[in-house]
Amino acid sequence: MDLLKFIRNVPNFPIEGIQFKDITTLAKHPAAFKESNDIIINHYRGRGITKVAAIEARGYIWGGVIAYHLGAGFVLIRKPGKLPAELLSEEYQLEYGTDKIEMHVDAIEKGEKVLLFDDLLATGGTAKAACNLIEKAGGIVEGVVFVIELTGSLHGKQKLEGYDVLSLVEIPVEE
Ligand code: AMP
Repeated sequence: MDLLKFIRNVPNFPIEGIQFKDITTLAKHPAAFKESNDIIINHYRGRGITKVAAIEARGYIWGGVIAYHLGAGFVLIRKPGKLPAELLSEEYQLEYGTDKIEMHVDAIEKGEKVLLFDDLLATGGTAKAACNLIEKAGGIVEGVVFVIELTGSLHGKQKLEGYDVLSLVEIPVEE
């Protein structure tokens, strides 16, 4: 199944010049949603993964399904101010300014194998910050998985050098 055809491109959202890759059109399609989950689950089954960590909000759509089928627990990585207990946090660079993500300090035990999921890899800043959070907690990043990887000038994969990266669909970014 060509998953690319289930991803809607929305020009100039949320701001002028951004080609927004909308995964709601993939998530709502029963067969495409199942296949996208199955590929990831089959790829990582048997690798000793005990936690799946995902980044809010779109990461949670797949993250919980993957965790359930791998027999792993689910870890929430969130934007600032949302998680209630003791936190680890990580700041990262945006095109203009910085952003921050947070995770509970007790979400991952030392030495646990963790699979990180997010819907889309662009510059890699968010995913790298999430890997740092997992490692700060003592986890081992066993894999980093995306539905969509924007390839070309953003060099997101370079930022994740050294990690096992899987993306289901590659989309060249328009200059
Ligand atoms: P980055 O940190 O640059 O790799 O950006 C990745 C995060 O921003 C992901 O959580 C995506 O959901 C979101 N994102 C970045 N660019 C796009 C895009 N063109 N379409 C949809 N989501 C995007």
